[in-house]
Amino acid sequence: MKGAVLYGPRDVRFEERETPRILKPTDAILRIAATCVCGSDLWPYRGINKVEKPTPMGHEYCGIVEEVGSAVRSVKPGQFVIGSFFASDNTCPNCHHGYHSSCQQAEFIGTAQASLLRVPLADGTLVATPSLPDDDLVPSLLALSDVMGTGWFAADAAGVKPGSTVAVVGDGAVGLLAMLSAKLMGAERIIAMSRHPARQALAREFGATDIIAERGDAGVAAIQELTRGVGVDSMLECVGTQEAMQQAIRSTRRGGGLGYVGVPHGVALDGQQLFYAHVHLHGGPAPVRRYLPELIEAVWDRKINPGKVFDLTLPLDQVAEGYRAMDERRTIKALLRP
Ligand SMILES: [Zn+2]
Repeated sequence: MKGAVLYGPRDVRFEERETPRILKPTDAILRIAATCVCGSDLWPYRGINKVEKPTPMGHEYCGIVEEVGSAVRSVKPGQFVIGSFFASDNTCPNCHHGYHSSCQQAEFIGTAQASLLRVPLADGTLVATPSLPDDDLVPSLLALSDVMGTGWFAADAAGVKPGSTVAVVGDGAVGLLAMLSAKLMGAERIIAMSRHPARQALAREFGATDIIAERGDAGVAAIQELTRGVGVDSMLECVGTQEAMQQAIRSTRRGGGLGYVGVPHGVALDGQQLFYAHVHLHGGPAPVRRYLPELIEAVWDRKINPGKVFDLTLPLDQVAEGYRAMDERRTIKALLRP
């Protein structure tokens, strides 16, 4: 079997890898229908996270169950399934509270840019679609594996409600889908922080009502002006840098919610600033598994089309070009088909 392997900065190769097989009775093997390159794959690709040894890549996936272990009950061969980037048992206390990405048995799934994938804890991790999907639904179903669920968590964690005023920092796939999520949750005003025309257009399509191109102090001032000096009810931080987090805290109203899903890189918060900000902070790796049933239904009923964030589709053997295009910001998100 062939798949993507990262050797070092900007060196991703499509090459022979060990064919996955059932290792535990709770495993399943999937034949991948589609996978993709994530913004977070760019941290090691750019050398910001060190790559110690050749590393298989990919954590977003959907596909057909090929084989299941002897203990698997809820999915069977032939079904089309979607799962999160963290395998979860769906039975432990953390799962019961809805935090599947902190499952006591959580296992990161990081080898999905390939034609076959082993998924541990298949019963708790995978959710099947009602039947085999039409091909045009596959990108949107794939988006549920991470980016849509992550955008949804940002909006959920920030407490978006009908009538809310919301702002989103970050115009990558997660930020754009956070806007779509806020719209679905009934937000009345959605402010997108973006300086890229193509992304601004998709932001508007997903429900953004205002666009702010400024960043830092100027970005904060622009939001304060739009909200008459109050700040937004809900702030969705989808970047993970110090600048983005500061901008988010300073733009949220007193008593408002800040959902942060950008993986923090070099973010340090000041206790006194937080103390006086009066902001509800909630974030982390999104418990995507919690949201899969309702989001699958929304895609299945064609109420949402989160797959629109994929503006480049490549055969899996051109995975290196997918990384390049995202690194150079020529594309929002690259979909790969084996
Ligand atoms: Zn669990």
